[in-house]
Amino acid sequence: MQKKRVIILGAGISGLTTAWNLHRTGLPLDIILLEKNARAGGWLHTDHTTGFHFEKGPRTFKVDKCPSTMRLIADLGMQKEVIWSEAKPHHRYLWHEGELHRFPTNPISFFLSPLTKGFIRALLSEWKQPIKNGDETVWEFVVRRFNYDVARLFFDPMVVGIFGGDVRQISIRSCFPKLKAWEEKYGSVTKGFYMRMKEKKRESRFSKDVEGIPTSAIFSFREGMEQLPQAIISQIPPCILYNHNVNAVAFKENQVLVKTDKEQFSADYLFCALPVKETGILFENHVPDIAKELVRIPSASIAVVNFGYDNDVLPVQGFGYLTPTYAHEDILGVVFDSSVFSEHNRKERETRLTIKLEEKGYTEEKYIDASLRGIRRHLGISQLPKSISFKNAVRAIPQYGVGHLEKMTELKSLFSAKLPRCHLVGNYLQGVSVDFCIASANEAVAEWQAALYRK
Ligand SMILES: Cc1cc2nc3c(=O)[nH]c(=O)nc-3n(C[C@H](O)[C@H](O)[C@H](O)COP(=O)(O)OP(=O)(O)OC[C@H]3O[C@@H](n4cnc5c(N)ncnc54)[C@H](O)[C@@H]3O)c2cc1C
Repeated sequence: MQKKRVIILGAGISGLTTAWNLHRTGLPLDIILLEKNARAGGWLHTDHTTGFHFEKGPRTFKVDKCPSTMRLIADLGMQKEVIWSEAKPHHRYLWHEGELHRFPTNPISFFLSPLTKGFIRALLSEWKQPIKNGDETVWEFVVRRFNYDVARLFFDPMVVGIFGGDVRQISIRSCFPKLKAWEEKYGSVTKGFYMRMKEKKRESRFSKDVEGIPTSAIFSFREGMEQLPQAIISQIPPCILYNHNVNAVAFKENQVLVKTDKEQFSADYLFCALPVKETGILFENHVPDIAKELVRIPSASIAVVNFGYDNDVLPVQGFGYLTPTYAHEDILGVVFDSSVFSEHNRKERETRLTIKLEEKGYTEEKYIDASLRGIRRHLGISQLPKSISFKNAVRAIPQYGVGHLEKMTELKSLFSAKLPRCHLVGNYLQGVSVDFCIASANEAVAEWQAALYRK
């Protein structure tokens, strides 16, 4: 095969994993990765500049939810860089009726907790509820199968915590596919959960990719989340062009032309790993119907505030807490980073908190002020932090509405039929997590390679 040029747009984890996969094919490729910022990694961003270890984007991965990430770690030879923490002892809390309540972790606390009254009632009758086919919102699904209390006290905060989204808008099939599959297979989520627990007992308790790490663990890396993109960059040939804001694509004969605000490039193939709205805008003139659908997908914005203290200021131990929508708090959730990964602590008794707030168009000062007021009320912390870091994650997490996954499958195949030299990668295709971004990059490169061999 003659040397081919491949351009990748966006050096977030989706674009970098695409570059890594292309490099690993061993084919004669000239790869160029165009990134608008002066740094790579996208939302994976670790800040070491304040004297504390702060994560501004993702902060934890769970082993059993990250099969593609675990494989990537093994392929990159990063196993020794993984730090992990058993998920079980990390109590999680909910701000409910003016108090922090611990989510139950064993049968006794499950029966005694004020959070679970509605849950226990619902569990007794869930298996009798009729099956409903087709997609619906998480809220509709949970209220139908369980009840209003389970929806507002468990699923609402979970949806906010994972997707920064609205439980009344996002799709059960896209966001909690297992629950929907259990309803369809067993006629009951409770029975599906029970069957899964039985199955789990037969499976290995340890990851097959990273030795010694339990599948129930949550993990990060010694130097933080950004170590993953950095490991990829160190193992691919230098190919990233920073400060290149891509603003147009065009097609000429067998070439794809890409224009940035500095230069024009041509390539044989293009992988677009930009956020969904930017992707839609870029292809507006070439596939207007698909582009219109992509631009229409809403993305949630979240303000992220990190606080660092030299001493232990936490009144409770655990992973952190969430607030349900009904409580109308500025704070959506707080992660007790110093407890979750103490390896990242620089001082023995330090406290590191990450506070996520609903995007309200505030100034940075106002978000910080809302965080200080919130943790004073929720945790009784009135001491001012020694270090503060802030990031406004604008349009960061695409919202998977009802029917989203089916629509993406359809759009992707239409897109490759119309623009066979171009491939889509990103967090709006299969799922929003880093693991789904890696899976999406793996799939795109595998499809590209298969098409190459078919020619
Ligand atoms: C605050 C926060 C917390 C999160 N927590 C978790 C978590 O705990 N676990 C988890 O699995 N996931 C988490 N996620 C989700 C996950 O981090 C993202 O879905 C994932 O990182 C997206 O990666 P990406 O490469 O697809 O996109 P991005 O990271 O958005 O990368 C896209 C890249 O394209 C570049 N770009 C954009 N426009 C242009 C242009 N015109 N020209 C050139 N370059 C351009 C951007 O600068 C960026 O580098 C979190 C996200 C956020 C925001």
